Amino acid sequence: MWREKVQEYENQIIEDLKGLLAIESVRDDSKSSTENPVGPGPRQALDYMYKIAERDGFGTHDVDHIAGRIEVGSGEDVFGILCHVDVVPAGEGWDTNPFDPVVTEDKVIARGTLDDKGPTIAAYYAVKILNDMKVNWKKRIHIIIGTDEESDWKCTDRYFKTEEMPALGFAPDAEFPAIHGEKGISTFDVIQNEQAEEQDEPEYELRSFTSGQRYNMVPDEAEAHINVKENMTDVIQNFEQFLVDNQLEGESSVDSGVLVLNVQGKAVHGMDPSIGINAGLYLLNFLSQLDLDKSAANFVDFSEKYLFNSHFGEKMGMKYHTEIMGDVTTNIGVIEYNNTKGGKFGINLRYPEGFEFDEAMSRFTKEIAELGFSIELGKNQTPHYVEKDDPFVQTLVQAYRNQTGDESEPYTIGGGTYARNLDKGVAFGAMFDDSEDLMHQKNEYITKKQLFNATSIYLESLYALCVEE
Ligand SMILES: [Zn+2]
Repeated sequence: MWREKVQEYENQIIEDLKGLLAIESVRDDSKSSTENPVGPGPRQALDYMYKIAERDGFGTHDVDHIAGRIEVGSGEDVFGILCHVDVVPAGEGWDTNPFDPVVTEDKVIARGTLDDKGPTIAAYYAVKILNDMKVNWKKRIHIIIGTDEESDWKCTDRYFKTEEMPALGFAPDAEFPAIHGEKGISTFDVIQNEQAEEQDEPEYELRSFTSGQRYNMVPDEAEAHINVKENMTDVIQNFEQFLVDNQLEGESSVDSGVLVLNVQGKAVHGMDPSIGINAGLYLLNFLSQLDLDKSAANFVDFSEKYLFNSHFGEKMGMKYHTEIMGDVTTNIGVIEYNNTKGGKFGINLRYPEGFEFDEAMSRFTKEIAELGFSIELGKNQTPHYVEKDDPFVQTLVQAYRNQTGDESEPYTIGGGTYARNLDKGVAFGAMFDDSEDLMHQKNEYITKKQLFNATSIYLESLYALCVEE
């Protein structure tokens, strides 16, 4: 029945979506102002949503032009639908103009069709259709629209500073059936403190070491520059053997007496470092065989003692696992050292619900202080979790099952979705099992089937959760 309802609106859904897709709502700080906090594109997309809402007779409320909401329904509690209308840049290689949507027999092609303009319009129409049916709302619906999801979440930060937190809600910005848990995500630096000047006559002096640029990626490149006093050939031979033993790619060269070593690893997302190959940690592992200068030896030893071959925090004494959310993971994404300033490890640690993050960090801080290291804590986002058996989650999943016949269970992830902005909320669609995931890639598209099925699922869930029968 819900799918038939949606059928009456198919043309309008496509038309409204096309209008939204035609706006190049990419963040542009060079044009930011009070009027356009993250540039004119995102602001224009936000205004576009207000315009269709006003056309359809809904209230709107703007929050500093960076976020806002569409208001429908009535009741005590607020049900939130958290969407975003900014997009990542188009990038190269499109077959069509990414901001001139193309509608074919079975799909719509443009930047943002999947992430997140298609799902935003689907959720909007679910609300609109119910309202057109003159249902008896028992909740106030806030369709919350952000314009900075793809960068810094300044939109939701600003929004929830002053605006009401929904009692319940979902973010249609990921996958079906639902993501009901997301690990805590923290980043921190382990800094090597200033070393006391000591008499040091090392055979090998590490001049510099670099590996990785992003905390949330396993680094696939590492390079070390080493002053070698003698036995250059031996070191190079040992290095070649090390590469063979560890099935690694790499190379060595000598540049005016300085030995340069390179290792290539395998880059993967930092949420699961065990399936990647950390080039930096491997190269440090090789360096640990050499009789290095004291400062470098201290740095390399730290890697061996706490980081190398330890993807689940085990060497840091932080191993922790839950049935539902899995393991603590530790990705060493950035490694830097130089012989005048010392070194740093940039770490991305993800942890399940129940892990005592603060306690673990303060214990670790104390332990490594004795070795001459300290910690600079960056961001820490706590785990986001709603019980899978919560009636709210079950209602959403039931709507998904009714529409698709697919019995998949909601699941948890190591990454983060927009849903974590909500006190009690989950990521809900709009990717299906068989959707091709071209988010952030060229030729992004949404099939009409996906768009209309998502609308039906949102429609049925909102009816079950927000309407008086
Ligand atoms: Zn998104």
